[in-house]
Amino acid sequence: MTAHKKVLLVFLPSESGVDGARSLYSDTKSNVITSWFNGSLRNLIKKSQFAIPPLSLMILSSIEVEGVRQTICDMRFEEFPFHEHWDLVGISVQTGMARQAFDLADRLRARGTPVALGGAHVTLFADSCRPHADLLVQGEADDLWKKVLTDLKRGALKPDYHSNKFPDMGEAKPVSKNALIKSRYFTTNLIQTGRGCPHNCDFCNVHVLNGHTLRRRAISDIVSEVARFQQHDHRIFFFVDDSINADPAYANELFRQLTPLKISWFGQATTTLGQQHELLETFALSGCRALLVGIESVEAKSRSAHKKNQNRSTELAGAIQNIRKAGISLYGSFIYGLDGDTLDTPAAILDFISETGLDVPGINILRPTPGTRVFERLKEEGRLLFDPRDITAFRYTFGQEMLYQPKNIDLEAFVESYADLTRKIFTIKNSITRGFAAPSAKAAVMLFNLFYTHLYSLSRHDLRRQVEAGSFEKTILPYAE
Ligand code: SF4
Repeated sequence: MTAHKKVLLVFLPSESGVDGARSLYSDTKSNVITSWFNGSLRNLIKKSQFAIPPLSLMILSSIEVEGVRQTICDMRFEEFPFHEHWDLVGISVQTGMARQAFDLADRLRARGTPVALGGAHVTLFADSCRPHADLLVQGEADDLWKKVLTDLKRGALKPDYHSNKFPDMGEAKPVSKNALIKSRYFTTNLIQTGRGCPHNCDFCNVHVLNGHTLRRRAISDIVSEVARFQQHDHRIFFFVDDSINADPAYANELFRQLTPLKISWFGQATTTLGQQHELLETFALSGCRALLVGIESVEAKSRSAHKKNQNRSTELAGAIQNIRKAGISLYGSFIYGLDGDTLDTPAAILDFISETGLDVPGINILRPTPGTRVFERLKEEGRLLFDPRDITAFRYTFGQEMLYQPKNIDLEAFVESYADLTRKIFTIKNSITRGFAAPSAKAAVMLFNLFYTHLYSLSRHDLRRQVEAGSFEKTILPYAE
């Protein structure tokens, strides 16, 4: 009998920024107690039950080819198993973690282990990945990975796997959780109902990577997947779609059919949900506890400058209030520093949060990630603060640095106003108040706010260090084209 081919699928950790809960700049001034406190909190956050499994690797590990055995290595929790033999290692590459991925790939290949690179960064920037891989998987890998595994078994791997069309989401492809260690995660009940986004927000690359057309899975497949998952993990479900309400008729039918299963769930939606009354009611009845919504900006000029056109700014507050009244807590994500923003914008954000009672505000700085239209535009306008040719830079992950010159606000004034805004929003008192006021998931709301109170203090620290280092002036000129 021939031995199985052994394949390892690797997910890399993010080391810094909000997710990694670590300052980008080491703080030489911090004393032993502060360092100990920050280190302990960082470990707590990293190891906390907020981690969810990498869905893309769950999907790939569910593909069965006889004679091939797949394992997931989630490097947030474990070291790479160098002591074992692997016939193929597949690494998921995100921009921002690309350098880490390349380092690992180079190390493995030097030992004779074949490496496959895939993921968003490979799809967008294949040429920069090619020197670090034996093979590249470009685009959504669902169908391609089966070909890779079959070729591996035949001893006939090719250097490139790509397809001109997106996988058919209507075809049943049951996702398995067998390759996961359940206790590591906040929940393993991750469900994706479809892919693609019809919108065009210029800071986002979902529509670039997954297309503009909504592709949906069959409702019956999802219902049976939820029922199957529920048997092995009784925790909350996470619907990972970027916009679970993008196709209201489909979503209404799906969650109507899921209601008898009595799950609790959270997901991501657009604020339009506040005006989709029937769907909102169905969501609430089907066990929706919390949603993440991209508010992005309360400034009409910023919304149109960045093609965020799903809702008018005048409709936002009412929409948020409607969703909360339905008993669903909201994480509302803002981006401060968009092209219509001024130094008056922080006051408008504060008013909005207090008017709507938003449960967890997220105050982000625009991250012009390579592959997005805003990256190209800021590059052309000479507003990027770093070398746009360095697309593997760590800073494109969830960092806390200023990466560009805001249009209407001086950089130092911007940093000061951002620091002032986050200092006012994230306090221990506000965290406790928001937790008690949340329509559901009160403990999670309170915890998130408390974590953010710490994380945004790291963010302020990093931005201050960046200003003190004078890196704005040093970096902006040489790279303006
Ligand atoms: S931000 Fe959301 S709505 Fe806008 S393009 Fe991306 S996924 Fe679509």
